[in-house]
Amino acid sequence: MGRITSRVGAGPIVALAVLLAAPALAQAPAGSPPLPPPRPADVPAAPEAPTLAVPAPDPAPLPPERPADLPAPQAMPAPAEIVPDDAGCLRRLEKLGAKAQPHPPLASGLCGAARPLTLTELPDGLGLTPAATLTCTAAEALARWSTEVRVLGERHLGAAPKAIRISTSYECRGQNHDPDAKLSEHAFANGVDVMGFEFSGRAPVTVGDTREGSPEAVFAAALRARACGFFRTVLGPGSDAAHGNHLHLDERERPAGHRLCQ
Ligand SMILES: [Zn+2]
Repeated sequence: MGRITSRVGAGPIVALAVLLAAPALAQAPAGSPPLPPPRPADVPAAPEAPTLAVPAPDPAPLPPERPADLPAPQAMPAPAEIVPDDAGCLRRLEKLGAKAQPHPPLASGLCGAARPLTLTELPDGLGLTPAATLTCTAAEALARWSTEVRVLGERHLGAAPKAIRISTSYECRGQNHDPDAKLSEHAFANGVDVMGFEFSGRAPVTVGDTREGSPEAVFAAALRARACGFFRTVLGPGSDAAHGNHLHLDERERPAGHRLCQ
């Protein structure tokens, strides 16, 4: 314990010596070798380097790196753990006009998210029923996509939706509700299931329930195709039996940035 203290204690003195040396070096004539700066009389002499008197201990071994596939730690993250990208994402989300509040950390076995959000409203006052529990990345993707949904509604149906109807956002479960399958992105608050779109003065459009060739079907196909530009995974009717009545949108990261857009 005493050896560690002496090593740590030398730090501020070394820093002070460097600070004192800086102006003297700046005044040395160009071309001449820098002289060691005179030590002001009122500065106590630096003790002989304690590390010489006491053999320096070997540096403490670093803990092994945490494998990437381990679940997120369950403790509340310290402020220092909030990476700059989170702050950037929150700023972008706000700038888009979406409304969200921080949600307490989620942790349940291997499932969870350290800094989820409750997304309550999409840009331009577009509703989200019910509110979604999502990572900031997934919330931002949903917000960006929703602006395209509004445009596509106006183009194909003559009206922008007033709300997007969703079902699952965060849920601790395996893919396709199979307990033996790999965990779904829903288990990390990184995915959302979109069921349909509500309008003022016209019938809702329900995913998987549009008549072929109708404006509603064209609208649904267009917004699904557009989702591939914002989400890394897009599944829906026709992808498989589990996605016949909703669009599953998530931000699962894959090697080399590959996307699954079906
Ligand atoms: Zn889903």
